Amino acid sequence: MKTQQLTSSPEDIRAAGEILRSGGLVAIPTETVYGLAANALDGKAVSAIFAAKGRPQDNPLIVHISRLEQLEDIVSEIPEDALSLAAQYWPGPLTIVMPKGKAIPNEVSCGLETVGVRMPSHPVARAIIDAAGVPLAAPSANLSGSPSPTTAAHVTDDMDGRIHAVLDGGECAVGLESTVVSVCGDVPQLLRPGAVTPEMIEAACGSVSINHAVLSELAEGEQAASPGMKYKHYAPTARVIILRGSREAYIDYCNAHAEDGAYALCFEGDGAELKMPYIEYGREDDLLSQAHGLFAALRQLSDAGAKVAYARCCTPEGVGLAVYNRLIRSAGFDVRDI
Ligand code: AMP
Ligand code: MG
Repeated sequence: MKTQQLTSSPEDIRAAGEILRSGGLVAIPTETVYGLAANALDGKAVSAIFAAKGRPQDNPLIVHISRLEQLEDIVSEIPEDALSLAAQYWPGPLTIVMPKGKAIPNEVSCGLETVGVRMPSHPVARAIIDAAGVPLAAPSANLSGSPSPTTAAHVTDDMDGRIHAVLDGGECAVGLESTVVSVCGDVPQLLRPGAVTPEMIEAACGSVSINHAVLSELAEGEQAASPGMKYKHYAPTARVIILRGSREAYIDYCNAHAEDGAYALCFEGDGAELKMPYIEYGREDDLLSQAHGLFAALRQLSDAGAKVAYARCCTPEGVGLAVYNRLIRSAGFDVRDI
């Protein structure tokens, strides 16, 4: 299949809407990462997403809407906490897991009785949903297992020839996937951290619990509350090792391990003191810059042919919790205190 390259012009947005309405796959920009979209109400179109990505069949998709009225047949109930969260953080980088409605095919929910819904804030994403005239199911537009794409070029690297079109809307502002919170239990539960932090959820709902898979590896055979948490993720071709300690200890450790094929995955300004090639993923004192830069940096490591990457550990607080969640997965949970 030839993958069309579309721009964010009104004609191209209309063309994307047309492809989506007729059952095709289009990679679209959002404020989090690029999404691989299909008509969420068309089971066959949704199945094609799994095939194009090589995505495991039990990992459900998030449904993207542009107007609250679209919730009607997507969910069977809108819990109070969902209303509070939507009022505060929609449109924005927050997915709310609610009881599934009758319009959602099993291909989207993968056998669960719930569905994750998000209203993106990116104006182009919203215009594409409007042009399609249907809610869009969209996971990240990468091959399953590799880092999520934050530019149209990343999408093309992974998906060229596998999907109908890529619409280039520039770099994604946030750079990490949405926060996923379930409001199906007594207390809102954070399933995946993102730019909407636990503190922000607590401010809207009065409480929040954090699923233990956010910060640690699932036990063998353990059921995941969010199926995506159990898969190997965000992994560059290099083996990533996270080093937790002071900046000085990090520099010393790297310089003592400057073997062939070793790269440092560090913060801006660290490189001058390192005796190995390095790729930066943001500024030490700016968690948003780390979120913005991490996935592109992981892709650069693969492009550079790195064999091992020594990563500086981020601070797992606020948005840093999301950065840390992705970083430990990219490293297969190999975190070393130095
Ligand atoms: P992606 O769109 O690639 O970022 O993946 C969507 C993420 O949301 C995965 O980690 C899924 O497991 C999670 N997710 C989607 N729907 C649900 C749901 N109904 N319940 C729990 N997690 C969900
Ligand atoms: Mg993904």
